[in-house]
Amino acid sequence: MRHPSVGVIVHYQSYGTPGGEYLPEPRAAIITAASGPTDPLSADEPPENFAVGLCVLNPTGLFFKEEIPFAANPTPGHWNWPPNVDVDSEIQALVELSESRPCRRCDGCGRVANSEDAEPWSEWEALPPGSDLAVQMGVVRPVTCLDCNGSGTVDL
Ligand SMILES: [Zn+2]
Repeated sequence: MRHPSVGVIVHYQSYGTPGGEYLPEPRAAIITAASGPTDPLSADEPPENFAVGLCVLNPTGLFFKEEIPFAANPTPGHWNWPPNVDVDSEIQALVELSESRPCRRCDGCGRVANSEDAEPWSEWEALPPGSDLAVQMGVVRPVTCLDCNGSGTVDL
């Protein structure tokens, strides 16, 4: 669950004029105060539970307001997440994907030797000619690393 925090840019839906001369419009707004109902925050606190202070960036000037309630969809007088928030979460998912680390057993090469100690195969491959007799003779062979199933990486 995403929590509003100070300094984050959100949308504030402006009020239109009663006669309809001006329609409600989304405005960029910076969160100036964010307090939740519980302290400390629980991780699954929905944004509905937050009333935030905003500095609303109108085209013609700034507008400050406190205790603005959240609305999932743009609602006059409420704040909401900008529509591109899904892009943020996709980027976040990509970042999490990249947070895998090289497998320690095979040193990231995905294969280990079939020797007793099952050294990373990259170590055997790096042996200088003459020292790799066991490899040349086929006594030591690479096998798929079972820690990472040959992918070379494990999730954090
Ligand atoms: Zn491995």
